[in-house]
Amino acid sequence: MKTADGPAQKNLRDLIEEESLTLFAGLPHGTARLWDMLGENVKPMVVSIVGVNGVGKTTTIGKLAQLFARDGKKVLLGAGDTFRAAAISQLKIWADRTGADFVTGREGADPGAVAFDSVTAGKARGADVVLLDTAGRLHTKSNLMEELKKVHRVVKKVIPDAPHEVWLVVDGTLGQNSIAQAREFQKTLELTGVIITKLDGTAKGGAVLAIASELRLPIRFIGVGEQAEDLIPFEPKPFVEAILGIS
Ligand code: GDP
Repeated sequence: MKTADGPAQKNLRDLIEEESLTLFAGLPHGTARLWDMLGENVKPMVVSIVGVNGVGKTTTIGKLAQLFARDGKKVLLGAGDTFRAAAISQLKIWADRTGADFVTGREGADPGAVAFDSVTAGKARGADVVLLDTAGRLHTKSNLMEELKKVHRVVKKVIPDAPHEVWLVVDGTLGQNSIAQAREFQKTLELTGVIITKLDGTAKGGAVLAIASELRLPIRFIGVGEQAEDLIPFEPKPFVEAILGIS
C-alpha cells in the first residue's frame, strides 16, 4: 500500500491531469484569439452573448466590460434583452460602473433594432468591443432561437462578418441541464465559445470537464463570484491542476 503522497498516487494524478488536458486540446480558450483578431483590424469586435435567463448573462457582460476596459479597450454595451426592463437597467448600471458606452431601446422594442443601433454606434464611436446582451426567454424555445438568429442577421447589415464571436453563458451548478441547454443553442447558432458561471460555490470543475468534452467548444471564461472582478480567462492547465489539488 502506498501512502497518499507515494509514487503510485502521483502517477495516477499525472495520468488524470494528462487525460483531462486532452479534453481541451486544440481549442482556443481564454481571450487570446479575441485580441489576435482585434490586432487584425476587426473593429469593433462584436460579441453576442446568449444564454437562458438566470445563468448570469447580464452579470457576465458587466464583468467582461470591466475586464476589457482594464485592458484599455473601449467597450459598448448593447442591451438587447428588451423583453425584461430589469435586464436593461441592470446593464445600464454595469455600463456606468465600467465606463462603457450604452445603447438600448424601450422595453418591448425590437431586439434586432437595438442590436443594429448598438453595432452602428460602436462603429461610429470607435469602440473596440461591442457586447450584445440578448433575450434569454421567449414563449417557446424555437421563438427564442429564431429571435437570436434574426439579431445576428441584422448585425451583419452593419458589419458583414459580425457577430465575430457568439458566447454561450451556462450555469456551472446545473450539470447535465447546462449541457442540454448548450446543445439547443448549438443546433441553431454558430457558437464560438462558452462562459461557465457560478464556479465559486458548490459546483466543482466537473461541469467544465463535461462541457469541454461533450460540446467541443472553447471555454472562454469562468465566473467565480458576483463581483466585477470575479471572471477569469479560462486556461486548461492551471484549472485542471486546481481541481486535482496540485499547486
Ligand atoms: P441573467 O438572467 O442570465 O442575466 O442572470 P444575472 O446576471 O441577472 O445573474 C443571476 C444571478 O446569478 C445574480 O444573482 C448574479 O449575481 C448571480 N451570478 C452571476 N454570475 C455568478 C457567479 O459567477 N457566481 C455566483 N456565485 N453568482 C453569480
